[in-house]
Amino acid sequence: MKNITKSYINGEFVTLHGTQVFNLINPTNHQPVGQVTLGDEEDVQRAIAAAKAAFKSFSQTSVTARIQLLENLKQAVSKREKELIEVMILEYGGTRQFCTMSLQNAIGSFDNMIDTLRHFEFQRKSGNTFIQLTPVGVVGIITPWNSSNSFICSKLATAIAAGCTVVVKPSEMSASQTQLLTECFDEAGLPKGVYNMVNGLGSVVGAAITNHPDIAKISFTGSTVTGKQIARSAVDTVKRVTLELGGKSPNIILDDANFEQAIPQAVLGAYMNSGQACIAPTRLLVPKAKLEAVNQLAKAAAASVVVGNPANDATNVGPMVSEKQFERVQHYIQVGLDEGATLLAGGPGKPTGLEEGNFVKATIFTNVRNDMRIAQEEIFGPVLSIIPYENEEEAIAIANDTMYGLAAYVTSANEVRALKVASRIDAGRVCINGFKHDPMAPFGGFKQSGLGREFGVYGLEEYLEPKSILL
Ligand code: NAD
Repeated sequence: MKNITKSYINGEFVTLHGTQVFNLINPTNHQPVGQVTLGDEEDVQRAIAAAKAAFKSFSQTSVTARIQLLENLKQAVSKREKELIEVMILEYGGTRQFCTMSLQNAIGSFDNMIDTLRHFEFQRKSGNTFIQLTPVGVVGIITPWNSSNSFICSKLATAIAAGCTVVVKPSEMSASQTQLLTECFDEAGLPKGVYNMVNGLGSVVGAAITNHPDIAKISFTGSTVTGKQIARSAVDTVKRVTLELGGKSPNIILDDANFEQAIPQAVLGAYMNSGQACIAPTRLLVPKAKLEAVNQLAKAAAASVVVGNPANDATNVGPMVSEKQFERVQHYIQVGLDEGATLLAGGPGKPTGLEEGNFVKATIFTNVRNDMRIAQEEIFGPVLSIIPYENEEEAIAIANDTMYGLAAYVTSANEVRALKVASRIDAGRVCINGFKHDPMAPFGGFKQSGLGREFGVYGLEEYLEPKSILL
């Protein structure tokens, strides 16, 4: 049992003014993992004051000094990589495969920002005008539970690269993971006040950060509903906002694809991070003429998916993070049945033998119409919808018929054809023939999947204000 009573403000772990306690529960077996004391508005005030004071000197540091800090952070986090993976499995229920990859991404984000900084021009010229890219100020970082430490690392790395100081509010359900990560940051020897972290509820600590006039920018990853609320509150003080929100990503399999390969891959992809992934390809678009063959392949693929203890190497789908999330996914499975979609695999209830955790059966609906709620709303669990299309035009129209636009996937034997389709899809990231990741490519959403971009040069520019000096 871990009892987390402190947050991190001005370079030290400090006792909080807030007194409310939140129980941390292992989603695999419902056993208590620990407790976290939640901060309140006064704690946020202290954290922001520390970040504001630190910003004065930190914003003036050299690129070389900031590269060294990023290097120190990378070393400190790498040293405890194994522990970080274990605590993520325990507290979040992420599969070992996913948690290992997530930690590699977290560590990689420091290297990526070092690389970005090495080639970045903070001073530019346009005609006779001298342009300085200056750090935006104190950044409020608000993160979700589904890959908590990886989001904190990539946002912190970008802020440090820019010369900004931060106040982080992680999900209250990620407190043990954040505690361990913060111990790493503490060891890295950041200047006091550069990184501050306050545990707490979104409605209390998150709202206090969003409303505070000394926060210049919010970098948020989470649901579209919360993102809109944050954008509304941020407007009063004209804060900059980067919003990484939800998705309902289409996966178009064109008629010339290798279906024996593409369909099992598509099923596993939809279940990435146990289906709790913003970029998960949850709408599988297939030619109507091949629907029967697709159904057979998808059903066989679902049968081979291992749902179970996330600590096991072979597990593909672990438990949902909380009972609330489990209930949400169950609700959507019932919605799918009520809407008249055909249940191909899985369905309501827990898999046999896994009754003690928040486990959901690997579920597939077929004959789904794109106007059904299971095709339009983000479920955030292992539920895939197979949607048949008549021809390529219709596939593109269905792909774009959504309020979201985070990611999309296209599979074809002909790369030129796939590229043409990809260029017509309204999404911030389109992967061709597989699930690709490029940590230096801009990442973010079209439409209601977000605002702004993260990673690499585009990500760094979001933490900077261009100042034109006219000579
Ligand atoms: P959420 O929106 O409920 O919470 C995210 C964070 O916001 C939490 O720390 C929460 O405490 C905080 N919060 C809640 N209300 C707030 C308020 N009024 N003011 C300020 N902060 C507040 O999301 P979640 O359930 O933790 O995560 C799942 C969601 O995140 C999904 O919708 C998923 O698609 C999205 N997500 C998006 C990306 C992306 O990169 N686009 C990545 C991962 C997750």
